[in-house]
Amino acid sequence: MTNAMQPGIRVSEIFGPTIQGEGMLIGLPTVFVRTGGCDYRCSWCDSLHAVDRRFRRDWEMMSTDAVWQKVIALSGGQPLMVSLSGGNPAIQPLGGLIDRGHGEGYRFALETQGSVPKQWFADLDVLVLSPKPPSSEMTTDWAAFDTCVEAAQDKPRMALKLVVFDDDDYAYAKDAAARYPQLPVYLQPGNHTPPRPGNEGALIDMAGVMKRMEWLVEKVTRDRWFEARVLPQLHVLLWGNKRGV
Ligand code: SF4
Repeated sequence: MTNAMQPGIRVSEIFGPTIQGEGMLIGLPTVFVRTGGCDYRCSWCDSLHAVDRRFRRDWEMMSTDAVWQKVIALSGGQPLMVSLSGGNPAIQPLGGLIDRGHGEGYRFALETQGSVPKQWFADLDVLVLSPKPPSSEMTTDWAAFDTCVEAAQDKPRMALKLVVFDDDDYAYAKDAAARYPQLPVYLQPGNHTPPRPGNEGALIDMAGVMKRMEWLVEKVTRDRWFEARVLPQLHVLLWGNKRGV
């Protein structure tokens, strides 16, 4: 139930503790709060169950209290990093949840494509901005992205995370890094066999993903892009496309 004082949060799933599988917090134990709905529709989205409105019957409008109680239950009341993900979590009212969790010693990391700025970005502990490259078939609104960076007011730890499938994506990643030289850059090879809702058990082309990882490492080193960090998706290596891990 939600009430007038407490705007509802559209939730796709809450699970954990598990480890963060990618980017600057890779390997860190966390509980995921995955919100439902996204203003993008990337061609290779690996979270379609939290994006495609066909699955919205599985989403639940929850109060901040209800989300918080679930995080407390999953973490056994022991503070940890909560990962706010989606979909695009920036389109949900998460400021109250962050305040509530901070009051109890929890920390919050949010990943977004940087299309919708929110004032409460400044309250996060970690903000990962992941603009989507050409292979996603989305177009980046850099003015909106700038506003997201400004909204954070340099308060959270911030990073750029870029998925790279091909040379065009790589060129886009270099451009993004040049625009925001103050932000550390994480590159991640794309998964061209992402999960399809209802068929998460389908085999992933792991050999293909690892080949792209090798290609990316070679590209970065040959290019002497020594500030970039290249990381695979740890959860994909461990569990393929399985959900809720
Ligand atoms: S922005 Fe993220 S969640 Fe939204 S469609 Fe793209 S990959 Fe999926």
